[in-house]
Amino acid sequence: MEEDLYRNAREVAVEQFGHIIWLRALIEWSNVCRNDCFYCGIRRSNTRLPRYTLSREDILACCDSAWKLGLRTFVLQGGENPPAAQALAETVAEMRASWPEAAITLSLGELPQETYALLRRSGANRYLLRHESANPSHYARLHPAPMQLEHRLACLHELRALGFQTGMGMMVGSPFQTTDDLVADIRLIESFRPEMIGLGPFIPHPDTPLGNYPAGSAERTLRLYAILRLMLPGAWIPSTTALSTLRPDGRTAGILAGANVLMPNFTPARQRAAYALYEGKNGVAVENAAMLTQILEELDTIGYHV
Ligand code: SAH
Repeated sequence: MEEDLYRNAREVAVEQFGHIIWLRALIEWSNVCRNDCFYCGIRRSNTRLPRYTLSREDILACCDSAWKLGLRTFVLQGGENPPAAQALAETVAEMRASWPEAAITLSLGELPQETYALLRRSGANRYLLRHESANPSHYARLHPAPMQLEHRLACLHELRALGFQTGMGMMVGSPFQTTDDLVADIRLIESFRPEMIGLGPFIPHPDTPLGNYPAGSAERTLRLYAILRLMLPGAWIPSTTALSTLRPDGRTAGILAGANVLMPNFTPARQRAAYALYEGKNGVAVENAAMLTQILEELDTIGYHV
């Protein structure tokens, strides 16, 4: 029974963390990307998208407003752009100096080992790099030839060796994904034991080669939150924006299935529309600093606080 599974998972989460949800400030740093992932709206070949990279001032202003609202983790996420990521290290160092107690999480794709090392030395302490699919042949149907699962996994190992807390994960219901593929994903996560697990449903973006495939299932996503919570009781598992895009109660449903993190969006409004990973993403108006109160109220209805 689905309900039993969710209840067991949420009991494990409550045992570990209490009825407490951790908030992370998501800052969508840049949509400039050298990759061409078949599912992703910010892929290189999408010429319909205006490209942006947040300035140092923008980033620090986002952090400042998030800190003042009580958030203690900043997440910089963006397209894969090695020279820009290298340059970002200076801003990371400033963030570290200004907010010594904050956690700084990065999600910038596959970068040279030296760049990871520089970002780590500059004060970043966590890194999210979804493995996207544990099955190499499925991985190859989602990513063009130069990209390889093996390399992505090597990056995850490098990140861990550098002392980053790492996060992995995948989309649920990505095109061509089989149940066996998901089982392989679960097994891979189980053996790598990441500190964080990022997963949400696939949502098609019309300006991508996979834009005509159906969205993943919200229920299946919830089932995976629950399974992974039971497998890795202490993991940080966000109830993701993609899930809230699919169903209005996505955030609380995710928590009731074992997720324990929310990532409100602190990207400045003028750039937000251009960080279009998938269709409808920017309709999620609640993922917004001004809407923090709404998140607190929603959590309150299910007996959780931040
Ligand atoms: N460039 C970074 C960050 C990628 S965007 C990286 O390579 O890790 C963050 C995540 O959004 C991706 O890992 C992917 O799993 C998810 N994503 C991209 N396109 C999506 C889509 N169409 N539907 C749902 N999730 C998507």
